[in-house]
Amino acid sequence: MTIVSTPRTPDERAPVGPRRSIIGTSWKMNLTSTEAGGYCDALRPLVADLLDRDLFVLPPFPAIWIARERLSGTNVAWGAQDVHPEDGGAHTGDVSAPMLADLGCRYVEVGHSERRRDHGETPELVAAKIEAIVRWEMSAILCVGETRRLGPAAALEQLLPDLERSLGGMPAGSFDRLVVAYEPVWAIGDGAVAAPPDDVGAVQSGIRAWLDARAPDGSAARVIYGGSVDEAIAGQLLAQPGVDGLFVGRRALDPVAFAAIARAPLPRT
Ligand code: PEP
Repeated sequence: MTIVSTPRTPDERAPVGPRRSIIGTSWKMNLTSTEAGGYCDALRPLVADLLDRDLFVLPPFPAIWIARERLSGTNVAWGAQDVHPEDGGAHTGDVSAPMLADLGCRYVEVGHSERRRDHGETPELVAAKIEAIVRWEMSAILCVGETRRLGPAAALEQLLPDLERSLGGMPAGSFDRLVVAYEPVWAIGDGAVAAPPDDVGAVQSGIRAWLDARAPDGSAARVIYGGSVDEAIAGQLLAQPGVDGLFVGRRALDPVAFAAIARAPLPRT
C-alpha cells in the first residue's frame, strides 16, 4: 500500500505574531499509533475551549500521522521529538524536516537532555537542526538546562553559553519560531521533583533578558519550563516572571492530567 501524505497548505503554517502562552507534552518513547489515537480522541474535547493559549503534543515518529488525522482542525498542534539536519539522503533511520513539515508538524523538539545523553548531541548539531526546522517553517523547541542542582545564577552561567552555541543556525527575524524549554536535568524523570517556582522564575527571567538582547526580534521567542510538572504546581510555575508556558513529560501521558495542566490559569488573562 502506498501512503501518500498531504503537504501543508499555507494557512496551516506556524502563526507569527505576539507571544502567546504555550503548554505541550512530549510522549517520549511511549504510546503506539493505536494508543495515540485513543489519547488524541480523549484529549480533544477536554481542551477544546482553551483558545487563549497554544497547545501541542509531540508523539514518537510512527504516531505523528495519527495526531494529524485526529487533531487537524482543532486547537491542539502536533510535532516531533527530533529531526535530522539534512533534507534527505543516506541517513538510515533518520527523519528530515521536509518529512515532518509534510505531516503538518508545527513544532520540533531539539536538544533534550536524553538525546544529548543517549546520542551525544552537541549544541552545534542542535544548531544545524534548528536551521532546518526554521527553513521548513516550523518552530523549534530547544531544551537547555543544568545537569545538577545549582542556584539560579550558576545555572544561567552554565546554560547561556549552551544556548548561544545552539542558536548558531537561527536566522535573523525568525525568533518567533523559537521556544526555549528550560529543563533542569535534575528535575526531569522518575523520582525527580519540579524545581522551586521562585528559582524557575529567576532562571527564566535571565533567559528572557538574554533573548531580548540577543536579537532584534529576540522578544518574540518563548521560554517555557519542563521538569516534573503536574496539576498541583502548574499554576505556580505559570505565575512566575519569564514563564511563557510548560513542557510536560510523564504526567501528560494521561490525557486527563494533561488537560488539567493545560487548563491552569494564565497570569496574563
Ligand atoms: C522532559 O523530560 O522533558 C520532562 C519534562 O519530563 P517529566 O515531566 O517527566 O519530568
